[in-house]
Amino acid sequence: MHKKVYEALNWASSFLNEHGRDENAGELLLMWILGWSRARLLSELRTEIPECDYRRFFEAVKEHVAGRPIQHIIGYEEFYGRKFSVSEQVLIPRPETEELIVAVLERVDSYFDSTAKLKCADIGTGSGAIAVTIKLERPQLEVSASDISEAALKTAQKNAVVLGAEINFRHGDLLDPFLNEKWDIILSNPPYIPNDDKNILSEIVREHEPHSALFGGSDGLDFYRRFATDLPKITNEKAIIAFEIGAGQGEAVATMMNKAFPHGKTEIIYDINGKDRIVLTQTLIMNV
Ligand code: GLN
Repeated sequence: MHKKVYEALNWASSFLNEHGRDENAGELLLMWILGWSRARLLSELRTEIPECDYRRFFEAVKEHVAGRPIQHIIGYEEFYGRKFSVSEQVLIPRPETEELIVAVLERVDSYFDSTAKLKCADIGTGSGAIAVTIKLERPQLEVSASDISEAALKTAQKNAVVLGAEINFRHGDLLDPFLNEKWDIILSNPPYIPNDDKNILSEIVREHEPHSALFGGSDGLDFYRRFATDLPKITNEKAIIAFEIGAGQGEAVATMMNKAFPHGKTEIIYDINGKDRIVLTQTLIMNV
């Protein structure tokens, strides 16, 4: 018996709900399988779904109930209005990180001369979401990006090519690939979850995303400590440095950055949920 769109969606939302998963997953999966927009799906609730599509839908919903992230099932996540391919080797881009982009673009525009030739590096790029977005939003920047994982770099490279962003990719640990040069903009969404929070993390994240992109030592701050030590050596006198941070880490990271850049201004920026999410430093503030 053929199922209609609304029947499939009703089944999925109650099945997902029963298993403690987000009910909206059904809509996303059906849109993907049918290749339809949300508007079309909602205007064709009484349309029958071809048998083979319904079977694929049924399997996809079951997979998500079993814990597989939707983004791994459909193969991509949207970030800043663009589709980024993802896999088990990279962190799935999060909406909070879009707020990092917004904050950085705003500060870059007001801090630097628009004709300046600026060098920007994204450390631990993962899917490439930050580097690719920054390059596409401000094509005049010269953007480089690194990752310690070769598999992640492949994914990032693929995203850069598909989305048409010219980026210089480098392989290596944290700042290693960037030493011996001076940078104007340094961005990173490093792993920042405290190791012991492993058990309170959703199993969808814990079982499917790379731990090397999630966990940042016993207090989650290991990578910021390393950044604070080494960044002053590789930044131009006037630079912008912006990190994504975990909620509650703002004060600690801002203190490190204030020590590393005593002539600058460091801000803690809150996300739409009111959580501290970004620490951003302008390394030199002129007093006029
Ligand atoms: N925001 C991610 C999460 O909550 C963590 C990302 C990170 O450690 N950089 O799962």
